[in-house]
Amino acid sequence: MKKELIFMKPTFSHTIWGGTALRDVFGYDEPGDDIGECWGISAHPQGDDLIDGGSYAGLHLSELWDRHREIFGGVGGDRFPLLTKIISAREDLSIQVHPDDEYAGIHENGSLGKMECWYVLDAEPGSRLVVGHNAQTREELIDMIDGGRWNDLIRHVDIAPGDFVQINPGTVHAICGGVTLLETQQNSDVTYRLYDYDRLSGGKPRQLHLQQSKDVITVPSPDASDMIIRDDSDEQIARLITCEYYEVCRISCSGGMSASFDKPFMLMSVVDGEGAVDSHPVKKGAHFIVPAGYGTLNMSGEMKLIASSLP
Ligand code: ZN
Repeated sequence: MKKELIFMKPTFSHTIWGGTALRDVFGYDEPGDDIGECWGISAHPQGDDLIDGGSYAGLHLSELWDRHREIFGGVGGDRFPLLTKIISAREDLSIQVHPDDEYAGIHENGSLGKMECWYVLDAEPGSRLVVGHNAQTREELIDMIDGGRWNDLIRHVDIAPGDFVQINPGTVHAICGGVTLLETQQNSDVTYRLYDYDRLSGGKPRQLHLQQSKDVITVPSPDASDMIIRDDSDEQIARLITCEYYEVCRISCSGGMSASFDKPFMLMSVVDGEGAVDSHPVKKGAHFIVPAGYGTLNMSGEMKLIASSLP
């Protein structure tokens, strides 16, 4: 008998920069006008998704990982390794940087560091992202931070839907208003906030982490062109990146197609259109896991998916 696809019931986070696009454009049934993030495939304690239907309905993804490791090909690890989110920014997010595993392990109580990547789904004309900085030496970096010379320091890049950005630990980065993207990341939430545009949240500025930022920011920044890939191939399946923690592909289904995967399990997000995966109807905003040993996945309809896996 064929194994079953595992569908997720996402959790949401509400933020000062959020809006309504996740409800209006992606159709999620989530109230509020400050919806910032949809944690589509997540076992993180701050948003541990429930399984939606099927044999495992009602279990949290963390419980599925702990009790049914066979679904994930028996891979090791004390926590589910990845996290897939859709982030939609009405306003700019704070400018931040993440540590690597080594720094987080020492300074953040054994936590993992965070490598992440972004696939831009939607962007108003003229949209930008913050990727990297302009300091040439650590001394210059510290001078610019201490002097509050944010406009000199921060590097903006122009982006459009279909751009893919890899954010290694140590990279200064931020999502700017008007952009919706899918993020694949290590399952960690350790973030150092470098600059928050002097905004107030509940009457107070949000906490900054300047010393940690000075410690972990990579100097100088690699060229933006080393971190941004334009997804313009007309392949049905285009691999966007393979790094130490994940592999990410874009799948375009037009009519029908089949795919089989050589990874222990696959995280799948429908980011545009609608159709079916085997007998299950899916549309934009659906998230599911293809379990180990599933075999061929048959897709039909007109849709675009982002598929993430272990490398
Ligand atoms: Zn980040």
